[in-house]
Amino acid sequence: MTPPRLLGPAEIRTLAAELDVRPTKTLGQNFVHDGNTVRRIVTTSGVGAQDVVLEVGPGLGSLTLGLLGTAGRVVAVEIDPKLAQRLPQTVSEFAPDALDQFDVVTGDALTVRPADLPAAPTALVANLPYNVAVPVLLHLMSQFPTLQTALVMVQAEVADRLAATPGGRIYGVPSVKARYYGDVTRAGSIGKHVFWPEPKIESGLVRIERTDRFGLDADHRRRTFAAVDAAFAQRRKTMRAALGGWAGTSARAEELLRAADIDPSIRGERLAVDDFVRLAEVAAAAEAAE
Ligand code: SAM
Repeated sequence: MTPPRLLGPAEIRTLAAELDVRPTKTLGQNFVHDGNTVRRIVTTSGVGAQDVVLEVGPGLGSLTLGLLGTAGRVVAVEIDPKLAQRLPQTVSEFAPDALDQFDVVTGDALTVRPADLPAAPTALVANLPYNVAVPVLLHLMSQFPTLQTALVMVQAEVADRLAATPGGRIYGVPSVKARYYGDVTRAGSIGKHVFWPEPKIESGLVRIERTDRFGLDADHRRRTFAAVDAAFAQRRKTMRAALGGWAGTSARAEELLRAADIDPSIRGERLAVDDFVRLAEVAAAAEAAE
């Protein structure tokens, strides 16, 4: 197969002019016009011929073309119909040999379901729209259990938050929830100059290796995430105080925390996902026994 040609600044300019694209902040439209960055993301993702890649927000196709040179198949979900409609033509022009390995679905990644896609994806690789990056990532990890890995580009600060470990100021809801699905690591930094238009902030890569250590039960996940949300909604408070509403009363929260072997006087930012899972399981068992 002839390797795909990638989109440089001239190609991005031509495509944008043809489509009369005016990138919007609301849709997080910053397009990559640097082949080296695309190659780096594809290499870091580790995807190969056996993978069906889900790409969220293909835009003008910068990353899509890079992925088509390596992955077995790429299924892209793009919310902007004008961009989605142009993609098959871009693929046929820049990666003609890979046209039958490519599908695009016009839709919202925040609500997309397995039945909306022509194949079950094994890997998520995306330069995510910044304002919805975390909800999109968590939605996809929950709805697509076939995704074994994720490599996403997000704002550097969000990347730090996702990969944070317990104890720090940036550790919070996204850090715990991402770890519910697997191992989370920072996988590099990306400067502003590789985008058109240039964003104000740096970007970062985050990788998730799915382990499903806690299983795939949606009710277990919902209960765990409810405890996490409650703990961080008032992050300056102790767990005993923060979880009063979640448990019914602070006294009840203290009882459940002790039963889960968690010190009621510490703050949520010191707890790992395993602690939240134990707490939710203790609470579910207590509820079932009542
Ligand atoms: N992948 C392209 C690249 O690297 O040049 C574009 C990335 S740009 C940061 C984000 C893309 O996501 C845009 O094409 C935007 O239209 C699309 N998008 C925004 N919100 C979306 C959503 N909820 N679902 C699917 N695509 C979305």
